[in-house]
Amino acid sequence: MDNKEQYKVRKEPFYQAQRNEVALYEAAYAARLPVMVKGPTGCGKSRFIEYMAWKLNKPLITVACNEDMTASDLVGRYLLDAGGTRWLDGPLTTAARIGAICYLDEVVEARQDTTVVIHPLTDHRRTLPLDKKGELIEAHPDFQLVISYNPGYQSLMKDLKQSTKQRFTAFEFDYPEASVEAGILSKEADIDPALATRLVKIGQAARNLKGHGLDEGISTRLLVYAATLIKGGVEAKDACRMALVRPITDDADIRDTLDHAIDTVF
Ligand code: ADP
Repeated sequence: MDNKEQYKVRKEPFYQAQRNEVALYEAAYAARLPVMVKGPTGCGKSRFIEYMAWKLNKPLITVACNEDMTASDLVGRYLLDAGGTRWLDGPLTTAARIGAICYLDEVVEARQDTTVVIHPLTDHRRTLPLDKKGELIEAHPDFQLVISYNPGYQSLMKDLKQSTKQRFTAFEFDYPEASVEAGILSKEADIDPALATRLVKIGQAARNLKGHGLDEGISTRLLVYAATLIKGGVEAKDACRMALVRPITDDADIRDTLDHAIDTVF
């Protein structure tokens, strides 16, 4: 399989659109504009990008950013092996060479020096300098840069700079509206729509506690986990405690409040 084919999304991912984001993304891609997807964790940002890569039939290279990540992790580095030193492209370089959509998930987590390497890729230059190698890559015409971030839990220190933000078009995601979210759960975990609606109710109760003891509400991802456990035969209350409550709080009062919400729904 050639390098490009291995990054293609082979099977259509299930993605429930919320508004006109699919058409808007297509327009951004047609102009090769960089895209930023903002929103809380587990609300469908990555699934959306995966779906768009499939729809546009372009390779997708996803990088989960973390605080130890440096520019070299993205761009590449020299490796020492038996034959001497050998250059190894990083994921961003590979994406620029083969014409992939490069999705930098939670980009603010990465060290500041990473923004320096993405800047020239996001303007008319569409270039990537490999300083250590002394090479300047012109991005493939199909290349597009996409970043995600969660504005909720960014400290001021970690917020993206305006000079970076203003290089992107942006989508603002949030947890789907109740009936849409129930549809997602029922499709993803193959559960009865009535059960999905009950799970969404618990999700909404938790989201109301955001800012009142909870930093983040229950994500769609966790609701899918609960639905999957129930589908697998776990008793609904146990599944909800395990998938929806215990992961998100260490506070006994909040935990009891949410457990109580589960008891009233099931
Ligand atoms: P994040 O926003 O953190 O990137 P994901 O895209 O990984 O979140 O979404 C988490 C999970 O929630 C997905 O694996 C999927 O099961 C479900 N999900 C959320 N939104 C949607 C949607 N619009 N269509 C289909 N599945 C969704």
